[in-house]
Amino acid sequence: MNKNIRTRFAPSPTGFLHLGNIRAALINYIFAKQKDGKFIVRIEDTDQSRNVDEASYAIMDDLEWLNLKYDEGSYFQSKRTELYQKHLDDLINNQKVYRCFCTPEKLDEKRKHQLEQGLPPKYDRECRNLSDDQIKAKIAANTPFIWRLKLNSDQSLDVQDMARGKISFDMKNFSDFALTRNDGSFTFMFTNFIDDWLMQISHVIRGEDHLSNSAMQCALYYAFALPFPIFWHLPMICNKEGKKLSKRDFGFSLEDLRKDGFLAETICNYLAIIGGSFEQEIQSLDELVKNFNFENMHSTGSIKFDIEKLTWINHKWIEKLPAKSLLGNAKLFLHKEIPASENVSDEKLEYILEKLKTDIKTLKDVGPVLSFYFSSPNVNKEEIENKIGKEKTELILKLIKTHVKDCVKADYFLNTLKTEGKEQGLKIREVFGPIRYLLTGTFQGPSIHDIMEILEDKEIEKRLNAI
Ligand code: GLU
Repeated sequence: MNKNIRTRFAPSPTGFLHLGNIRAALINYIFAKQKDGKFIVRIEDTDQSRNVDEASYAIMDDLEWLNLKYDEGSYFQSKRTELYQKHLDDLINNQKVYRCFCTPEKLDEKRKHQLEQGLPPKYDRECRNLSDDQIKAKIAANTPFIWRLKLNSDQSLDVQDMARGKISFDMKNFSDFALTRNDGSFTFMFTNFIDDWLMQISHVIRGEDHLSNSAMQCALYYAFALPFPIFWHLPMICNKEGKKLSKRDFGFSLEDLRKDGFLAETICNYLAIIGGSFEQEIQSLDELVKNFNFENMHSTGSIKFDIEKLTWINHKWIEKLPAKSLLGNAKLFLHKEIPASENVSDEKLEYILEKLKTDIKTLKDVGPVLSFYFSSPNVNKEEIENKIGKEKTELILKLIKTHVKDCVKADYFLNTLKTEGKEQGLKIREVFGPIRYLLTGTFQGPSIHDIMEILEDKEIEKRLNAI
């Protein structure tokens, strides 16, 4: 038990949540819960030019849907400007920062020039060397400026990463980075650090793409003489080709997956287990919190997004969910595909789902799998003849007609047809295939027993007599 464990999920509301974000949120959640710590949500909305209206609320809806409950938050950085200003003032007073008057155009030119010379682009500290008089003159002329942190290029900072161990960052590889923007707002680099500090985040768990940000943020911890948090840079999620999963890849956004009928349980389960090897792969969020072994994770490299595995897990969860909860998830899909389903009682729908769930891999399958219940199929003799030949078709249709009055007793009916069919030279599939076809319109599918239990007696009789 460690009350000091505090993790956070800190998305920027620039669009929808994608799998990488969600994995970060999930790992932060599991880590905090397992260690009796706190999981905090913070919306990083200081860059107004990139924020998308409503995105913050959509993020919170998504977290709720995923069942990732936070203990604190959600905090909005846009409401914390005064705090950032106060701490910037401290840095100004302690001369840890300087004004940079270079225009964005000038910075661009510098960058181009460095690249042309084969150098890594890095601010050349032109403004760090301005004299007091030069600075005064620029301020008097109302020249716009930003604040940059004075880095010590000779310094190397050691950062603790849960997956990689100690990482040493040479500050000579980093620029005196900006803490404010031209419009006076604060940069991600600064606000993210200030909040991690003030919110007493003990473990910063986020994607590997933030590795160099961590170096710069540790320079800020250092400037304030604070201890560094522990980091965990999670591997990127990649597509089949090994490239970072992008908007163009199916499954990139949570929205894609929700629309395609994946359950919240599946998404959490999948994203938790893809980074390691697990004996027991199907686990609920609570089980993951209990069992997740943080020692057992792939530390670096990338993780491949595997839609087949995701679908397999979804199938397992569909089979595992209690009927009520499965129906709760499936209803929207069902109603959309089959409006008539709105008039059927929950009880009946739960009963049907329970019988047919082994055929449902994603909630999108619910409509097609259940459709036979709602409308009689269009059937014709030729289809049966194509399957089993003309002669056998006559035989089986005759047998069905002879015994159709007994179809209310499914077992008896099916056994009789099987026995008599066999006597007349019909194989089992030549008996059951046509029956299934008459009842559902397809030769393959759920067990005939289940179908006959789902359909009303009159409907069975009607369908068996259709040809
Ligand atoms: N807002 C940043 C992002 O969404 C923060 C990441 C972090 O520090 O966790 O990428």
